[in-house]
Amino acid sequence: TQVKRTPLIAGNWKMNFDHLQAIAFVQKLAWSLKDAQHNYAEAEIAVFPPFTDLRSVQTLLAADKLAVALGAQDVSPHEAGAYTGDISAAMLARLDTRYVIVGHSERRGGHGESDELIGLKASAASAAGMVPVICVGETAADLEEHGAAAIPLRQLRAALGKLPEGAEFVVAYEPVWAIGSGDPATPAQAEEVALAIRELLRTERGDAVADTTRVLYGGSVSSQNVASYLKQPNVDGALVGGASLKVDEFSRIAQFQ
Ligand code: PGA
Repeated sequence: TQVKRTPLIAGNWKMNFDHLQAIAFVQKLAWSLKDAQHNYAEAEIAVFPPFTDLRSVQTLLAADKLAVALGAQDVSPHEAGAYTGDISAAMLARLDTRYVIVGHSERRGGHGESDELIGLKASAASAAGMVPVICVGETAADLEEHGAAAIPLRQLRAALGKLPEGAEFVVAYEPVWAIGSGDPATPAQAEEVALAIRELLRTERGDAVADTTRVLYGGSVSSQNVASYLKQPNVDGALVGGASLKVDEFSRIAQFQ
């Protein structure tokens, strides 16, 4: 029997929008979603602004009681102290941040983050009551050498090694070659790896976790292709980069028509 999982449509803004642009964007998004006839009621929508925008967006979401969840793009593995430039999980949780992306390929690659560090970040987010969105994915070279699933599974296994039993989390499968390239994985490719991820969750964490944990696809998702991913039995949402920066486009994606 198929377990129902609430789809998650997540907008990863990356390093875009100052706090004023962020407020204007979320306001427009809320208006657009309010009168839409769509799947939105079934799905959860989240935006992941830069740290400097979180407070402004949180104030707006709370004041207008908007049904958009707040996420952060990264978190420190440390609790507090002499960590110049870091932002702690407690600081994020204090701003009603619900989700935290950990292990995005732009941090694995660009900032040399290890599987172990990403596990510690996931664990820190979870300990503060937030839900880590653990990003995994293979590069084009990995794909050639190991096939699609091997690297994502290794990355996930390592992260789970640091994350306590009972912690809620989301997995985002993002092939590195598909990110920002306009060359997305096919729905069948996404489903194949999402299924392998779910089987790993079953082995490592048991049926309940495997059946309830959401596995997202990310990498050149647009309003044109989002529905084809959401139709796959093991794909439960999308992590959207470039297309999450345009209100109308992100609103259409959130409706995944
Ligand atoms: P993209 O980015 O949608 O621009 O490909 C996805 C991501 O990096 O999360």
